[in-house]
Amino acid sequence: MHSLSVRPTSATMRVLCVGAHADDIEIGCGGLLLRLIQAIPKVEIDWIVFSADARRERETRRSAGLFLKGAARAGLKVKHFRDGFFPYHGSQIKQVFERLKKAQPPDLVLTHYREDRHQDHRVLSELTWNTFRDHWILEYEIPKFDGDLGAPNCFLPLDTDTCRRKVEYLSSVFGSQRDKHWFTGETFMGLMRLRGMECRAPDGYAEAFYSRKTVLQL
Ligand SMILES: [Zn+2]
Repeated sequence: MHSLSVRPTSATMRVLCVGAHADDIEIGCGGLLLRLIQAIPKVEIDWIVFSADARRERETRRSAGLFLKGAARAGLKVKHFRDGFFPYHGSQIKQVFERLKKAQPPDLVLTHYREDRHQDHRVLSELTWNTFRDHWILEYEIPKFDGDLGAPNCFLPLDTDTCRRKVEYLSSVFGSQRDKHWFTGETFMGLMRLRGMECRAPDGYAEAFYSRKTVLQL
């Protein structure tokens, strides 16, 4: 497997993270965000969650504070669309994306997996691709009961400490999710271990993404 180095073309790297629910971004790409902040001093991260009640909004704000600590700039937006009903709120959600499009263009957009079986996740993935036509987009994965994990084609090897930090933040912040049978450190470490095995990560762990298009420049 060949590795491509990710370095911003300008001094600043802007990253936009799109998540349907509190905890999606952290589960899907929390390790990548922690590593970007370590590796790139001028990384600016905008984080938008589309559905959260008051308790989950508090959790997402606390979580973003932990994951984005050290970023050159961190912006957090929380919307209140009804959980599970995104396909029926398409036009209002599209308007949010229209406003995102008018902001400073991101160098990297992190969004949900196109084939995710959760309807809210799929709506955001589709609108991400509709909105950002000339951008670098990576789709992250969320393990779930539906069993919709696929075969991602882009890997970020992670050191064990970063994986543990990700899991510790998730476990400590999201009290509302602790009774969910899948929300365990073992699930998150297990998925990262599998992805690490698939890319021969030195520490054995990785997060994986879908990168649908790559344009080569020589
Ligand atoms: Zn979700």
